[in-house]
Amino acid sequence: MNIQKQKYVTSPYFQHCDNRPFENAWSIFPGDEPIRLNDEELSLLRFCTKPIYYNQLLNVFSQESITKMIGYHFLTKYETAWHLNRLQSVEIETSKYCNWRCSFCPNKDNQNLQQKIMANQLFLEILQKIQDFGSVNYVTLNTYNEPVLDPLFLERIQYLKKFNLKLILYTNGSALTNEMIQELKQSGCLQEIWFNVPSLQPERFKEITGYSHFNKVIAVVNKAIEAGLNVNFSIQGQTNERQKTLTCIREKYQEQIKHPIISWPTHDRAGNLKGEFNQNIHIKQNRLFGCNAVISQLHINMCGDAFLCCNDYFQKHKFGNIQDASLFDLLNSENAIFLRKQVYGNTQAPDDLLCRHCIEMKRQMVLLKLIGG
Ligand code: SF4
Ligand code: SF4
Repeated sequence: MNIQKQKYVTSPYFQHCDNRPFENAWSIFPGDEPIRLNDEELSLLRFCTKPIYYNQLLNVFSQESITKMIGYHFLTKYETAWHLNRLQSVEIETSKYCNWRCSFCPNKDNQNLQQKIMANQLFLEILQKIQDFGSVNYVTLNTYNEPVLDPLFLERIQYLKKFNLKLILYTNGSALTNEMIQELKQSGCLQEIWFNVPSLQPERFKEITGYSHFNKVIAVVNKAIEAGLNVNFSIQGQTNERQKTLTCIREKYQEQIKHPIISWPTHDRAGNLKGEFNQNIHIKQNRLFGCNAVISQLHINMCGDAFLCCNDYFQKHKFGNIQDASLFDLLNSENAIFLRKQVYGNTQAPDDLLCRHCIEMKRQMVLLKLIGG
């Protein structure tokens, strides 16, 4: 279609800026370099909250600003404004089981964790579709499972290598063998490995995780570091204890690890984690405010169903199955777009949408107030 007759609108995902609102730096996709906008560009984006023909825009704004905003995808064609054609990661539930019951994980109350694994054929189909889609930076083999317990774990690594995909592995380390560490190293597909270490005190470690063999886990962590893997630590728990554990882990490991060891607050998984970590969040406004999890990540369960995000422990908000479509078509199906419209406030979200109970959405609300959004 002739560009003059094309309607444009500000991207519905544009409301995401980085966490420096006062510096006027904007981006849509997490990880993109934030872009500084001048007054005309900001005014153009405000003007285009409703769709408008390109030639009408030219009467008000410079062609340079319009072209620049289209180039950054801040201004987008109206018909495809809700489409996604990029993704940062695909999180694949290759198995269902975990052998720990961490106090900060919804698994702690689940008496019914099943030892099921994803069929290899489905796994291969997913990898093929990710490769065809083209923009995925990495995959994980997690939802709330321990991926290393999967009997096909070594085979999965081989397939990732075959499809030239990067892996970020989240593990509790309890079943990671030397052979696996070597395979991860030699495959070249491992981008990062994250070990769940909530305490360096063996007794406390057992209380938090339910797992008795603290020394075994630490030996595995040491082996992974010796092998030169890119080791990170997931340090979870109540704030004071978490800070103390972070200090201990830094004292023990920081010199051996190139990047800073960090920890972030434990949250209640949008209300799915009951008890001491429950945050009791309930956002009652009609319209929600957006969350980059739904534009940067895709979560696929053991049967191929796509669901909302990593907080959706019970996989309550499903929007399609990867076996029925290409990745592009799955992400841009009516159901997927309808869900994103709810998360981004275009359509009123039902009261039972998880986002209404999520700290990420609450933070987004605070950020928008700061920038006057
Ligand atoms: S090891 Fe991970 S998946 Fe397993 S219970 Fe702990 S936090 Fe949950
Ligand atoms: S707001 Fe929370 S529950 Fe909603 S998509 Fe984002 S991370 Fe998930």
